[in-house]
Amino acid sequence: MLKDNYDFFKDYDREQAEWLASRPICASCGEPIQDEYAWPLDGLYCEECKDTYLENIKVNVDDFVDKQRGGW
Ligand SMILES: [Zn+2]
Repeated sequence: MLKDNYDFFKDYDREQAEWLASRPICASCGEPIQDEYAWPLDGLYCEECKDTYLENIKVNVDDFVDKQRGGW
């Protein structure tokens, strides 16, 4: 029997779900990472969460230099 559009849709849906299930989970948002690239920080991060992560750990360069001079 020929497949109708609905069958194709169901196939696509299932393949999509299987593919999603094979994706690693972002350590921050808990969503499957669907992009080609991810960032292994403390766990694997998706691009969006990587931006947030990096924003949260950024330092003021002058403060950083002062602390280094203060003897770390
Ligand atoms: Zn994420």
